[in-house]
Amino acid sequence: MQRIGIMGGTFDPIHYGHLVTAEQAHYQFNLDKVVFVPSGLPPHKVGKHITSPGHRHMMTVLATTSNPHFEVSSIEVDRVGPSYTIDTVRAFRDRYGDEAGLYFITGADAILEMLEWKDSDTLLELCEFIAATRPGYALHNGRIEEIFVEKANRIHFFEVPALAISSTDIRERLRQGRPVRYLLPDIVVSYIERAELYCG
Ligand code: ATP
Ligand code: MG
Repeated sequence: MQRIGIMGGTFDPIHYGHLVTAEQAHYQFNLDKVVFVPSGLPPHKVGKHITSPGHRHMMTVLATTSNPHFEVSSIEVDRVGPSYTIDTVRAFRDRYGDEAGLYFITGADAILEMLEWKDSDTLLELCEFIAATRPGYALHNGRIEEIFVEKANRIHFFEVPALAISSTDIRERLRQGRPVRYLLPDIVVSYIERAELYCG
C-alpha cells in the first residue's frame, strides 16, 4: 500500500520551511514520496499580485530535484483559473487508487483555514492531514477536535524546526535588498535573480 504526501502551496518562492517540513513528514509518517503541488491562481489570492505559475513551478522543481523522494506535480498550474484542494486530492485518489494512503501536508496556520473550506468533511474522507507546528508550541488548540469530532483522528500534528521562514518575508527582503541566502536553496536564489522576480 502506497503512502503519498501531498504538499500544496503557492511557493512564491519555495523555501527551506517547506522543504524541511516535507522531509520531516516523509520520515515521521513513513511516506513513500512527497509530491509538491504549486497552486495555479489560488482562490484566496485572486486580485493580489502573484508570480506566474510557470516561474513558481520552475522554482519548485529546482528546489526539489536533488531529493529522490520529492516530486512536483503540475496539475494545478496546468489548470486555467483557481484550483480547489478537493479537486486536486480527488485527482490523486484517482491516480493512486482507493488503497493508497494520502496525506495532505500543511502548516498549522493552513489547517485552521481549512476548517472554513466548504468541502472539508469530504476532504477528510479523501485524505488525512499532517499539520506542522513549531517546537515548544502547543501541538494543537483543541478547536480541531471540537469541530471534527469523529474525524479528528485523520488530522495529525508534528513538529518542524524551521517554521519562522515565510515567502512573504523573503519577498520583502528581496525588494529591500536584504539577504535571503540560507532561507532558500541557492539555485532558487539564482533563478530569482536571472528572472528578475520580486524586484519591483
Ligand atoms: P506566504 O508568506 O506567501 O503565505 P508561505 O511561506 O506561507 O507563503 P505557502 O506557499 O503559502 O508559503 O505555504 C505552503 C504550505 O507550507 C502551507 O501549508 C504553509 O502552512 C506551509 N508553510 C509555509 N511556511 C512554512 C514553514 N516555515 N514551515 C512549515 N510549513 C510552512
Ligand atoms: Mg502562507
